[in-house]
Amino acid sequence: MNEEELKKIKEYALERHIPIIMDDTLEIIDGILKDIKPKRILEIGTAVGYSAMCFSRYLDENGTIDTIERDHERIEEAKENIIKVGVEDKINILEGDAVEILPNLNENYDVVFIDAAKGKYPFFLEQAKRMLNNGGIIFADNILYKGYVMSDYNKHKQRTAVRNLREYIKEVTEDENCTTEILEVGDGLAISRFNK
Ligand code: SAH
Ligand code: MG
Repeated sequence: MNEEELKKIKEYALERHIPIIMDDTLEIIDGILKDIKPKRILEIGTAVGYSAMCFSRYLDENGTIDTIERDHERIEEAKENIIKVGVEDKINILEGDAVEILPNLNENYDVVFIDAAKGKYPFFLEQAKRMLNNGGIIFADNILYKGYVMSDYNKHKQRTAVRNLREYIKEVTEDENCTTEILEVGDGLAISRFNK
């Protein structure tokens, strides 16, 4: 894996305000992936492939990542990036809207990373749970959405997102099949560990 290229890709994405996983969030997830060495990871929201490439370091031998993205330009860029970094045998991009792709996906995953449309988090959770192996982990990035989720923030534009992020938190905290932590790293990270 070409670490030098990966660093350049990260800097280039930051310059252009392309959303990529924040360093402190990545550090937490890295620590967990290192321990569990997943065979199969599902990511919802590829952008230019940065987080998927970072996660690919911790895959078990012959492990793979499926990652979903709907934006055509980002897909093209992610494909180029993945080749530049030399991880094209580990990352498989599923092109299209996750809302349409997920119900037709019948795979099993050890880890799911949710990082796409905030208004769809409860739906992504339902689909992630359906495909998660026993003892698996679901991560949800941006779960606190700039703090809006914990305040009485009610601006029209973000209202649906905030309502659905709150719904996600409610569902995972009430689910007896998992234990959930909500961390104030980056833009907020939910970690739900499912029973074995
Ligand atoms: N995980 C990436 C960042 C993802 S940013 C990283 O850390 O490097 C969120 C991405 O999700 C955007 O590129 C956006 O186009 C995509 N997205 C949002 N809603 C989506 C949906 N419903 N289906 C597929 N992709 C979606
Ligand atoms: Mg994010």
